[in-house]
Amino acid sequence: MKPMGNVYEIYALRYATMSPRTPQMNYLLPDPHETTAQDLDYFVWLIRGEGREILVDTGFNAEEASLRSRKLTLNPVDALARFGVKADGIRDVVVTHLHYDHAGNLDRFPKARFHLQDREMAYATGRCMCNGMLRHPFSVEHVTLMVRHVYGDRVTFHSGSGEVAPGVTLHRVGGHSDGLQVVRVETARGPVVLASDAAHYYGNLHRRSPFPIVYNVGDTAQGWEIVERLAGDPDRVIPGHDPIVCEIYPRAGDGADVFALHLAPSRSFAK
Ligand SMILES: [Zn+2]
Ligand SMILES: [Zn+2]
Repeated sequence: MKPMGNVYEIYALRYATMSPRTPQMNYLLPDPHETTAQDLDYFVWLIRGEGREILVDTGFNAEEASLRSRKLTLNPVDALARFGVKADGIRDVVVTHLHYDHAGNLDRFPKARFHLQDREMAYATGRCMCNGMLRHPFSVEHVTLMVRHVYGDRVTFHSGSGEVAPGVTLHRVGGHSDGLQVVRVETARGPVVLASDAAHYYGNLHRRSPFPIVYNVGDTAQGWEIVERLAGDPDRVIPGHDPIVCEIYPRAGDGADVFALHLAPSRSFAK
């Protein structure tokens, strides 16, 4: 039976990995008994359906990877191409927040509109960027390109909740970055929430334990509640950087590391 309303497919494209890591890098207050830590995977997400292709986040490029000593497997634009998606065909790009690993390659999508929260642009260009610790996850080149896109009339600003297309909605959670937004997508298995950095790992969400890069811990904690409420099922929340995603979701295609999030996972987190 075909479900009612709009139904999309969602693909996670893994383009980089950071390894090894320590518990202190993944949790603000790690379990003191923990000695090992998960790797950090980097993704962009493609939403496809209803005649649309919507990209969520744009990753980083080789130059940024070498500046930060990260291992880039494949530029996300090339990963998209191997999956059969041309960057110049993308009309809508959601930027969950402006951190370097989510908002690079902004010059590679010539026909796209960028969907961003008011508060993210204000945060990334305001007084908090005078502080080295808060500034560190941003790249001035990425932020400057987004300013150029504002002046080029290519940015759609959202404040709180917004809509990209029927069944694809945006929701500000803040916390990790002041204007961080998550994306709720209608799929055949119900609404799936791309949590981005509202939950780097399933563990950040399930343990209610923040990732150490944080602007506002209170908003981060509220963000977990928002994400779970929007999804309505723990198995429909997709963390932003967790390698477990690649283990439990079916692989889609073999040209790049692509995983189908609209299909059921092989493991459940439901209690
Ligand atoms: Zn981030
Ligand atoms: Zn991130």
